[in-house]
Amino acid sequence: MFSTPKILIVDDEPRMCESLRLLLGGQGYEISTANSANEALDLISNDQFDLALLDIVIPDMDGHQLMEHISVKNPDTYIIVITGHASLDSAVGALRRGAYDYLRKPFEYEELLKTVQNALIQKKLKREKELINGKLEVTEKRYEYLVENSPDIIYTLDPDGNFTFISNAVERLLGYNPQDLIGKHYSTIIFKEDLDKAKWFFNERRTGERASSGIELRLNVVEKEDESCVPSGFLTVELKSTGMYKSEIGKKGKKYLGTHGVARDISERKKLEAQLHHAQKMEAVGTLAGGIAHDFNNLLMAIQGYTSLMLLKIDSTHPHYEKLKSIEKYVQSGAELTKQLLGFARGGKYDVKPLDLNSLIEETSRLFSRTKKEITIHEKYQDSLWPVDGDKGQLEQVLLNLYVNAWQAMPGGGDLFLETENVIMDEFSIRPYNLPPGRYVKISVTDTGVGMDEKTLQRIFEPFFTTKKMGRGTGLGLASVYGIIKNHNGVIDVKSKKGEGTCFTIYLPASTKEIEKECSTPDEIIKGPGTILLVDDEEMIIDVGSEILSALGYN
Ligand code: ADP
Ligand code: MG
Repeated sequence: MFSTPKILIVDDEPRMCESLRLLLGGQGYEISTANSANEALDLISNDQFDLALLDIVIPDMDGHQLMEHISVKNPDTYIIVITGHASLDSAVGALRRGAYDYLRKPFEYEELLKTVQNALIQKKLKREKELINGKLEVTEKRYEYLVENSPDIIYTLDPDGNFTFISNAVERLLGYNPQDLIGKHYSTIIFKEDLDKAKWFFNERRTGERASSGIELRLNVVEKEDESCVPSGFLTVELKSTGMYKSEIGKKGKKYLGTHGVARDISERKKLEAQLHHAQKMEAVGTLAGGIAHDFNNLLMAIQGYTSLMLLKIDSTHPHYEKLKSIEKYVQSGAELTKQLLGFARGGKYDVKPLDLNSLIEETSRLFSRTKKEITIHEKYQDSLWPVDGDKGQLEQVLLNLYVNAWQAMPGGGDLFLETENVIMDEFSIRPYNLPPGRYVKISVTDTGVGMDEKTLQRIFEPFFTTKKMGRGTGLGLASVYGIIKNHNGVIDVKSKKGEGTCFTIYLPASTKEIEKECSTPDEIIKGPGTILLVDDEEMIIDVGSEILSALGYN
């Protein structure tokens, strides 16, 4: 049978030790913990560990010093250092001093497990290498078990770079049959565009006796059915490799046997990073845009106010009447622009009520179709659609932005499909969207227009991203759609292919409240007398506001 791997955990934080003990103990490892360097030294002088997880910052000794002690007393122990966010430098220092790997706090359970498993496997491989040299007895079964059950691709290469071994994971992750790869050059599985990078890595870095720090590489993914193994895509991995050497009796120096290494699928991590990056970017630009839009809106309001005041005093025969009307029109377009910006930037919602989205979609689409006769609208609404807590004006803006984009994508006319549906999202189906499970209202807006390529799709929600000619697009439509939906605790998803149309799907959380009947406000202006207290922190709003109110007969 295999012997249980022994792991030593050193952290001055007892809770950290305990949770690591629980996590790793649950995997069948034998765990010892120490809360100080001295405790750790006691343990290593009485026992041999396969692996030590060291917090690099411990009060009673420099972490690097402790590493030295361990490597003297327990030279076969692999060391993984744990560092805080700020101490990446010390992690790098630790790697230079021979630590196998490092984990940065906070780390995820899976990352911890993979790193630990990897270290143990590498240790086994190293032991095997020593076996070739005739040092130890065979415990082949155990390492074979570890290697073949590892989620990572584990391989060995001969000095020319040809595979001498590659684990089953290569089939699961890339589609290659491991047997077929034996004897083939490593470049077989490297994605074309990363070949130079891979060559550099293997020539410059692979031969170190310590595991190299990781490199990011793309590997070919091949179709299972395809005999010739033509690549159909790539998988991003982090690759670590170590040189293998053999000392020869009677000779100085060592003989180079090749390399062994591990490739870990990091596509999930990349995706999360990209998502985070996107969210941060949107937030930064949102803050900026919101600040500008707020000030700009005040300016527009003052311009509008003085224009209205002048119009109050004159009739349509006045020589300036048309010009003043034009100013009003331009102010209106300016206000449209700031409305988009504000919708995109605003943290909260304005005027939130339970809404019936069916009637909102019906109204907005009717308004829209009146001017766009070349587009046929198909509606499919869910009966008794759940209400949604929302700002009517903002959600109208969302819908109109989507309709206008669809219309612009169908210059020769086409079909627009509007659909609503009640959906219950469970843990599993909601996961990609990062929302709590529960009841949602799903809205989809689908067109038969020009569609988008992958590159455009990546950027459509960015503010100011547009593929349209000057004057036709501002690039703010979808940015504001995105912001508004996010502020409503919903998500928007898009599917599109060049030449095949586009489908936007929105999920908004269903409300538990009932829809209120709307009472309409009269359009006519109610004039004074009366006394009004006007409060605003902007002097220009106070100025123009009070002038308008006095013109209407108020005090
Ligand atoms: P704008 O419409 O001002 O360009 P948007 O933010 O509304 O800005 O849209 C950004 C870009 O997304 C558009 O320029 C266009 O390339 C693409 N796009 C949006 N909706 C569609 C659609 N329905 N079909 C094809 N492309 C679209
Ligand atoms: Mg648009």
